[in-house]
Amino acid sequence: MNAPASTFDSPLKQLIEVLVCPLCHSSLSEEHQALQCKGCFKYYPILPDMVMMAPDQATLINPTDVTSSDDTDAPTGEIYDDTIKDQSFETISDELADAQSNHQIRRIQHELHIVTRMLSELPASTRLLNLACRGGRFSGPMQSATRLLIEADRNPQKIREAIDGAMNPPKVAGLNCDAFQLPFADDTIEGVVCARLSHHLKSESARERLLVELLRVSSGFVVFSFNDARSISCLSRRLRRRMDNNGAMDINDIHALCRVRGATVLDLETVSPFGSRHRYACIVKEDIIRSV
Ligand SMILES: [Zn+2]
Repeated sequence: MNAPASTFDSPLKQLIEVLVCPLCHSSLSEEHQALQCKGCFKYYPILPDMVMMAPDQATLINPTDVTSSDDTDAPTGEIYDDTIKDQSFETISDELADAQSNHQIRRIQHELHIVTRMLSELPASTRLLNLACRGGRFSGPMQSATRLLIEADRNPQKIREAIDGAMNPPKVAGLNCDAFQLPFADDTIEGVVCARLSHHLKSESARERLLVELLRVSSGFVVFSFNDARSISCLSRRLRRRMDNNGAMDINDIHALCRVRGATVLDLETVSPFGSRHRYACIVKEDIIRSV
């Protein structure tokens, strides 16, 4: 039988097959528990449970004695705005168990429902990227929707939590990476889910760069959550002269970014119908629209 070799490879091996250098997008060669870029010759460590592809993990000497650094909690490096976490509106909870109120639990459950519904209406994918996985809080429906789930985060500990909690471990691979420099060539990953990340970013340009990077690597779809600048909640804050805008994005800007990159917003759903600014967009590349 000539079944594809990847069918029987470990999830980490399947992930390594599609990685490229995040800095120069050249292909990689595997040697001595590391991947070396054939273009810029940087090395990236391979750990037992994940590949360390964040640019700040790159070295010019093979890191044979590398240990992971668990102290980087920011999912996107220096432009992650930690102050947003502490504001009362749309407070981020890393785990369902950390939720401080029934309201938060309902909101997380509703988000899980949205992700489940959107994935169920999309074609199953060979590879699905969950960025930033944050411990795998929304990973359940993703494992059912793909052959390989790539649990990606800036924080290795959050990746390990996602892997440890996986319902189907043989499907799950860990990837430490920077959200703006994903280690994939264009159109490599069939599906991407990016929940609760964009509104942590300080600047509008960073939020747009994130979406552009997701659209670059995806050949099929992107499920993307954002704070809607046109929501009643955001408009109300503006009227009260609170100009911080909480990481909001204008849906017309999202439409424009998608158009340029051959994608369309197929579906939009608000996390709470009672004034929440947090929305999920299901964005589909035009090549697969006919099959949806
Ligand atoms: Zn390189």
